[in-house]
Amino acid sequence: MDGDFSASRRLTVLSGPSGVGKSTVVAEIRRAHPEVWLSVSVTTRKPRPGESHGVEYFFADDAEFDRLVAEGELLEWAEFAGNRYGTPRRPVAERLAAGAPVLLEIDLQGARQVRRSMPEALLVFLAPPSWEELEKRLRGRGTEPEDVIARRLAAGRIEMAAEPEFDTTLVNTNVHDVCLRLIALMTDPQGVTPVSNREV
Ligand code: 5GP
Repeated sequence: MDGDFSASRRLTVLSGPSGVGKSTVVAEIRRAHPEVWLSVSVTTRKPRPGESHGVEYFFADDAEFDRLVAEGELLEWAEFAGNRYGTPRRPVAERLAAGAPVLLEIDLQGARQVRRSMPEALLVFLAPPSWEELEKRLRGRGTEPEDVIARRLAAGRIEMAAEPEFDTTLVNTNVHDVCLRLIALMTDPQGVTPVSNREV
């Protein structure tokens, strides 16, 4: 085994406010880094245009989500802006056991649950260059009505305040750069202190 890299240290959580660009980063990792296994969450949210079942999410109704919760099939789950989202437990455990680097893109509440259940996991906060930029990106996406945007911005303020709970921060000024830094963090065999690109 490659020594200093314990199984749970291979689990990386990417979190950050809605609109910061997490899914763009994840899409780039899916495209350019097939060695990283991306967890596919279950959600009760309706698919956005271009999203497919089993790729971005498994889309479920409330009854199915209730069943997954009741049967303990989710590693973590949370309600976010009126919908529920959760990480299927079994595939994550299997990939970790096989030694693969695993990435979860989840919200702050989920990140906190992972911190409790798997303290060795690496928690990475994706931050916007500024609050104004975040607001602009969230509105510019044009996929959500105003009340949903307002809820996501309110959640975003709370998420931004939680940055110090994370092991490191990556500022999303450039998707390619963020992906390179994230991969470097995930595959660092020494498990050295994670380096942020804030103020560099
Ligand atoms: P969206 O609806 O924009 O795809 O996602 C909304 C929020 O839910 C994002 O912050 C995203 O990271 C989070 N999210 C996605 N999947 C999960 C999950 O499995 N668990 C938790 N806790 N949050 C998730």
